[in-house]
Amino acid sequence: MKLTVLGCSGGIGGDAHRTTALLVDDDVLIDAGTGVADLDIDALARIDHMFVTHAHIDHIACLPLMLDTVGARRAKPLVVHCTVATEAILRAHLFNGLLWPDFTRIPSPNRPFLCFAPLEEGDSCAIGERIFTALPAEHGVPAVGYRVATPRGSFVFGGDSTTCPAFWDAVARIPDLRYLIVEAAFPDSQRELAIRSEHLCPALLAAQLPVHAGAFQLLISHVKPGYADETMRDLQRVAARHAPVMLARGDVYRI
Ligand SMILES: [Zn+2]
Ligand SMILES: [Zn+2]
Repeated sequence: MKLTVLGCSGGIGGDAHRTTALLVDDDVLIDAGTGVADLDIDALARIDHMFVTHAHIDHIACLPLMLDTVGARRAKPLVVHCTVATEAILRAHLFNGLLWPDFTRIPSPNRPFLCFAPLEEGDSCAIGERIFTALPAEHGVPAVGYRVATPRGSFVFGGDSTTCPAFWDAVARIPDLRYLIVEAAFPDSQRELAIRSEHLCPALLAAQLPVHAGAFQLLISHVKPGYADETMRDLQRVAARHAPVMLARGDVYRI
């Protein structure tokens, strides 16, 4: 399995910053933030599945646009996997015929560009040899993370989440974890803002990390543009034993 980071920033601005989008091989997206816009049209058309962590705009911004761009070129709908609660938000506030067309009925209800597939916390969905499992998250809106398992190992993407013991319990039960991607959206100097917006800062993240550094690589996402150096200094201070690495647009990981 090939994991390509199309975007992992907490915002936009310049070449380094694209919002959250992870490409699994060439046919599955986890979230569809602004990083998706860098794919060419053929690459967009190859995407058959998208797993949504939550409905915040930085995670779904390119979903409506990519459907409009490649829907007519594709022979089947894009399958969007998410919780029923997230589907309800997307239907009510995005694909509502006002902000954007209802692509679950366009061009026809029998052959739409988009269909939803429910996936609740704890549920799994196999696509080829890759098994996607929704993990707990706490973010003020309905949210999940994902484990992606292959016969050779797993990676976990925590999505947007503040302190969430159930997530870490789930992570502890993954024996073949290779990469753990979690957010640190704010530096410790903005801890109160992190708490109010139901994100994490390095100190809050470090308080949840397993006592023993595992065999997995700890990768940090969703860092606020302009605060990368400060956030990484904080992380080195509070989580040095886990050797955290900041995720970057264009990074590729293979399992
Ligand atoms: Zn969010
Ligand atoms: Zn976000």
